[in-house]
Amino acid sequence: MSEPLLDVRDLRTEFSTDDGIVRAVDGVSFKVEPGQVLGIVGESGSGKSVTCLTVMGLNDPKFAVSSGEVLFRGEDLLKVSKSRLREVRGNEIAMIFQDPMTSLNPVHKIGRQLAEAVVLHEDVSRKQAYARALELLKAVGIPRAERRIDDYPHQFSGGMRQRVMIAMALINNPDLIIADEPTTALDVTTQAQILALLKRLQEDFGSAVIMITHDLGVVAEVADDVIVMYAARIVERGAVRSIFNEPRHPYTWGLMGSLPRLDVNVERLYQIPGQPPSLLNPPVGCRFHPRCAFAMPVCREKDPRLEATSGDPAHEEACHLDGETKSREAAALVATLTAGAVV
Ligand code: SF4
Repeated sequence: MSEPLLDVRDLRTEFSTDDGIVRAVDGVSFKVEPGQVLGIVGESGSGKSVTCLTVMGLNDPKFAVSSGEVLFRGEDLLKVSKSRLREVRGNEIAMIFQDPMTSLNPVHKIGRQLAEAVVLHEDVSRKQAYARALELLKAVGIPRAERRIDDYPHQFSGGMRQRVMIAMALINNPDLIIADEPTTALDVTTQAQILALLKRLQEDFGSAVIMITHDLGVVAEVADDVIVMYAARIVERGAVRSIFNEPRHPYTWGLMGSLPRLDVNVERLYQIPGQPPSLLNPPVGCRFHPRCAFAMPVCREKDPRLEATSGDPAHEEACHLDGETKSREAAALVATLTAGAVV
């Protein structure tokens, strides 16, 4: 088998705070193959963003300590020099954040910012860089790009700014794009357009994508595979179809139950009560047990291992429930979710 593009092994990231040590990522392992779209889903504080910031080497080293391995084409990014990491970030891995205004300079025109980024990475003249910037703006669907290239960021809508950020991420044709909640700040229509754009560009450019989101609906739109994170750990993973057809972890059931639907009686759906735990002092045993409607005595004592119980070796979940109960509850949830759907 060929080497994965990214192979994250037993990743752990801790932050020192005034109140103690926060274990924001706790033993996370996953792989990304070339061209694959991986969705990482979870509530805020689940560790999904910190996982990706750690992969990119973007945590503040004054407060964060990471261990494990982040093998990008076999090279451990946790061990490389800062300059090598900057090189990888600039050329091979790109990141798209939720708020484009944090990445765009408000006092410079869009075209200048894009052209400067091109010059940083390619040995081209200013004129060529500007032409490349224009080409990228067109590729991400900016209407009247020849004119808009001379606009400032504030003259763009949120969706258009996110398109610019996607253009920026594509400059080097990166092998991996990490998109952290790229559509959260956008209205539903713009969100759908940006997701469609990302999917199209991912197909055209062949980059792998890690899509971080709290929204399983986003994952359903774009991902090949899904990781569900809860309280700094992976609680379920599998191919997107397998997760949606037979979700096997009560937390995933809750996420699916809370997907907004007009055609389903929401009172019949499983909802997650309570809040995610503090990672300063997470619950013993299964970390989800204080919120789980299915919790048993063993759940308060023993940490469930991530394992395949459905017959699909690529679909794993960390839950003490027996396989029959998981299958039955999953079937009931999926039947409820699809019952009122217009086919
Ligand atoms: Fe719920 Fe227990 Fe499964 Fe945790 S291990 S999700 S508490 S049933």
